[in-house]
Amino acid sequence: DTVQRRPLVIGNWKMNLDHVQARQWLLEYAASNNEWRHRMEGSDVMVNHVEVGVLPSFTSLLAIRDMARATALKPELFLGAQNVSELDAGAYTGDISAQMLAALGCRYVLLGHSEQRRYHPEDDDKIDQKMRVVLDSGMTPIVCIGETKLGREDGIGIDYALNQLVSAMRLLSGDDVGRVIVAYEPVWSIGAGMAPEPSVIESALADIRDFINATFGSDVAARVRILYGGSVNPGNAADIIRRYGVDGFLVGGASLDPVKFANICHLA
Ligand code: PGA
Repeated sequence: DTVQRRPLVIGNWKMNLDHVQARQWLLEYAASNNEWRHRMEGSDVMVNHVEVGVLPSFTSLLAIRDMARATALKPELFLGAQNVSELDAGAYTGDISAQMLAALGCRYVLLGHSEQRRYHPEDDDKIDQKMRVVLDSGMTPIVCIGETKLGREDGIGIDYALNQLVSAMRLLSGDDVGRVIVAYEPVWSIGAGMAPEPSVIESALADIRDFINATFGSDVAARVRILYGGSVNPGNAADIIRRYGVDGFLVGGASLDPVKFANICHLA
C-alpha cells in the first residue's frame, strides 16, 4: 500500500459505566496515558501516531467530552456513539439522531454490532440507511461484520461477513466507502477471552480489503481502515497489530479498564 493509514484503537464500553464512573475512567486513563508518554520520551515513537476513541453510553458522552477537553490528552481522545437512528428529528420516542451526536462532537458511530443485531434486532436494511445518515452528518461509521461459530464451522465465515458488508454499503459511493471504518469481529470471539490466531485474522482482513478493492477500486481499498475486534487484550494486541493490513482494534471488555486500554493503545 502506498497510502499511510493511521492506526486506530476504539473502546466499546457497551452498556457499562454511568457518567460518574465514566469520569473516573477518564482520570485513570489520563494518568496511565501520561505514564506511557514519559516512558517513551526520547524514543522516536510519536505520541500522536495512533488515533484513539471511546464509545460510551449516550448518557456518558457529555461527561467524557467535557473532561477529555479539560485534560488535553495526547493523543486526543475522540468520542463516538454505539448506535444511532436512521431517521431525522421527529416523533420517534426513544431514538437518538445523528444530528444530536454530531452536535456533541462525536467523531464515530458504531453500526451493526453483533449484540445490536442479536438483541434488537438490527437488520441490514437499517444499517445501510444509518451508514448514509452518519456520513451525511460528517461523522465516520464503524461498521461491524463477522460470522458466528456455526458459520465458521460450515466454512462460510468470511462470505457471511462480506455479505454483511455488501448490505451495509448499498447506499454508498466509492468516495463514501473510503471514509468508512470496518471492524471484523467474529461473533464467537466477542467476550469469549479467545481470539483467532493472528494469521487467521490477517487473512480475514486481507479478504475484506480484496473485496473492497474488487468492488470500489484500489484507491478506496487503500484508504479504508479495517480493525480487528473480539477479545483483544494487552497480551495479544502486539501480535495481532504486527500482522499485515491490521489497522487497529475494537476493544470491548478490556476497554472498561483504563490501564489496560491505555496499554493496548500504546502497543498499537
Ligand atoms: P470484547 O468485545 O473485546 O469484549 O470481546 C469486542 C466488541 O464487542 O466490540
